[in-house]
Amino acid sequence: MNNKIAISGEKIEELQNIASQNLFMHAQQINDWAGDLKIFVKGEGVWVTDVHGNKFLDSMGGLWFKGAGYGRTEIAEAMFKQACELETPPANAASITQIELAAKLAELHSDKSARSFFTSGGSESVETAVKMAKKYQINTGKSGAYKVISRRYSYHGATAMAVSLGKPLTSDTMGPEMPGTIHVQNWDSYRIPNNMNPVDYAVYCANQFEEAIKHTGPDTVAAMIAEPISAAFGIHVPPKEYWQRLREIADQYNVVLIADEVITGFGRTGKYFATDHWDIIPDITTVAKSLTSGYSPLGAAIATKKIADAFVGSENEKFNHLITFGGHPVSCAAGLKNLEIYEKEDLVSQSKNMGEYLLEKLAPLKGLSIVGDIRGLGLLVAIELVSDKANKSKIPISYEIQKKIPNYLHDRNIISFRAGDIISLCPPLSINKEEIDFLVEAISNVITTVEKEI
Ligand code: PLP
Repeated sequence: MNNKIAISGEKIEELQNIASQNLFMHAQQINDWAGDLKIFVKGEGVWVTDVHGNKFLDSMGGLWFKGAGYGRTEIAEAMFKQACELETPPANAASITQIELAAKLAELHSDKSARSFFTSGGSESVETAVKMAKKYQINTGKSGAYKVISRRYSYHGATAMAVSLGKPLTSDTMGPEMPGTIHVQNWDSYRIPNNMNPVDYAVYCANQFEEAIKHTGPDTVAAMIAEPISAAFGIHVPPKEYWQRLREIADQYNVVLIADEVITGFGRTGKYFATDHWDIIPDITTVAKSLTSGYSPLGAAIATKKIADAFVGSENEKFNHLITFGGHPVSCAAGLKNLEIYEKEDLVSQSKNMGEYLLEKLAPLKGLSIVGDIRGLGLLVAIELVSDKANKSKIPISYEIQKKIPNYLHDRNIISFRAGDIISLCPPLSINKEEIDFLVEAISNVITTVEKEI
């Protein structure tokens, strides 16, 4: 698969040399990429082309965010128009695009009076939600409440509070976590204890939040946060009882319920918001990523009217929280055009239908000796590999599966950075059946190779 892209060998070498010396790549060992950095120059639909002209299917939609896919020139044009007219308003004022996007998010949200606080990305949305929850508690008379309960092995972002919520996946090497963070067990649909059915186990896992609240003191807890389906923990889809129980617990103890929909938002699971599957309304919903499909950085903490109303009043009640480029008008223009494309092409139904097709095509892989589980919702799917299906044991670390699978898939023109014991799939929602067939064939070949090597 080769596209003719005019980048000379000399230019590529120059770029590699500069990158090796001056570029600090995120979350990657410099030795692993220096001199051989993957550099891309073009994208269209689900396909991306590198400097050598090689074409790949991006099975992860960038970093879980390419809802509408690559190469949407309409989004670029909308951004250009906004930048030409007014790149930013003066302080304490808004652009038309910010207002229109807030209206669009309220229209898509179950609470039609929801209010959006715009940020520049997911971590800031989480920080904003947590601070908003704490101040909400102060404004409504529960002023000693500052603790936040989250789930182990979740991921909520890279900033100090967000990283602390994801213990121990991200925070252990970063020193002590922020005061007031409490961690409970995550939901795992694959390793349900033998003596429990999935619904009972889901309620049991949700009840860990209640146990933590009771143990630490209900008056001290401001918020609880979870991803509807945790991508970091392996894409385990809970039964509806899980989030319904979280809602009940939050109500009972007057704790703000935050749904972190940074990955699951905007159609990823076959509904605009994943919590819509379970008929519950979180108090605050954090979004980013596919809000613009990655055309420009943008996020939001979307508060229900109940939460937002607590900030209406005197100077004391205001939410004293400010992010210079939160809700940048050019990003909001990208968000509006992105969501217009979603509606025009019905990408949310497409996610549901193509997600079902993907799971159907992957199902025969369950016959392979190392395929333990295949699961997902919409176009958020995981394949879990194990060395022994009976006891669901992990593949030995010595096999270095986290490196091998992405490399083997790369050889078959698939981009897949999050593929090891768990192969995560999060392609653009515009993916079609032919492209899914191509993806599944490559995955099937790679797993068969790994099965033989192990
Ligand atoms: N929350 C979740 C669930 C995420 O997956 C991420 C990033 O992957 C974040 C928050 C942080 O978003 P960002 O990287 O845009 O700051």
